[in-house]
Amino acid sequence: MLGWPPMKCPCGSEKNYSECCGIYHSGKETAPTAEALMRSRYAAFAKNQMQYLRDTTDPQSLGDIDDEANQEWAERAKFLKLEIVNAEEKANKGIVEFKAFYSVDDEDYVHHEVSTFRKQAGEWFFKSGKVKEEKKK
Ligand SMILES: [Zn+2]
Repeated sequence: MLGWPPMKCPCGSEKNYSECCGIYHSGKETAPTAEALMRSRYAAFAKNQMQYLRDTTDPQSLGDIDDEANQEWAERAKFLKLEIVNAEEKANKGIVEFKAFYSVDDEDYVHHEVSTFRKQAGEWFFKSGKVKEEKKK
């Protein structure tokens, strides 16, 4: 083994990036489920694909997104792992609870969020997120 294989998808699927979230980032296909979209958005942060994050955000929510803060975070953070805690879909609504593990300046952090997704014309969009406080260890 030669350490971390560079082309594995950052979302943790164990698939190659080009066969996983890369398909969605390139625009070849759209994410089929809210969970798949969540994973691809995490991978987009890891790959600093800010345009993809904008493209998959509900246009009505775009005004609430701080692009610069997101970009700064994506550039400074090292994305370690994504854990999907729970994912459910009901008709055009999806809810995904996840933990994103990352580090900044060698300090480890967990971003725990419940995200809401909406399906419009067959495509999933990120609508809003609610951050959950992590208990101190
Ligand atoms: Zn992936």
